[in-house]
Amino acid sequence: MAKLPGLGPRSARRAVLHMIKKRGLLLLPLADTLRKVAETARECLNCGNIGTTDICEICRSEKRAIGELCVVEDVADLWAMERAGVFKGRYHVLGGSLSALDAIGPDELRIPKLLDRVQTEEITEVILALNATIDGQTTAHYIADQLEGRVRVTSLAQGVPVGGELDYLDDGTITAALKARKAF
Ligand SMILES: [Zn+2]
Repeated sequence: MAKLPGLGPRSARRAVLHMIKKRGLLLLPLADTLRKVAETARECLNCGNIGTTDICEICRSEKRAIGELCVVEDVADLWAMERAGVFKGRYHVLGGSLSALDAIGPDELRIPKLLDRVQTEEITEVILALNATIDGQTTAHYIADQLEGRVRVTSLAQGVPVGGELDYLDDGTITAALKARKAF
C-alpha cells in the first residue's frame, strides 16, 4: 500500500488497519474487486483508455463525435476531461510525454498510432490537451509538426496554469480551457 502514489507509509498503515477492522464490509469486497480488475482491465487497442474490452466504451459509443480527437498524456487526464463533461468527441491517450531526460521518444508513446488514426479515421480536429509542463508542451509541438497540413490542430488555452497538470484542475478550469482552445 505504501508503494501506491499519493500514499506514504503512515497513510498506508492507517488504511490497512482500517480495512482489517472492516474486513467483511471493506476488505473482502475490495479484494474481490481488485482480483476482477487484475483479470479484466486492459488498454483500449484504439485509444489507450482503460476498460474491460479490447475497444473501450468511448471508442465504441455512437454518441461521441467522430471528428474531434482529444489527445491526452494519461488516462487520469482523460478522466479529468470526462469529469468536466464538456467534450463530446473521442480521445487518444499517449501514455506519457516525450522526455529527452528519460529517453522517451515518439515510439515509446502512442504517437505512431495517433498519426495512423488521423490518416484512417474521419478526424477533422486534433485537440492537444497536454499538461502545461515542459515535456507536455514539447510533445504538443512535436505532434503539431507531424500533423501540419493534414488536420486542424488546436490546444487548450486559458485556464491551464503554467507548470500545472490536468488531473489537478477543477471542472470549471477544464471547461474554460477547452472552450478557449486556439489554433496551434
Ligand atoms: Zn478507446
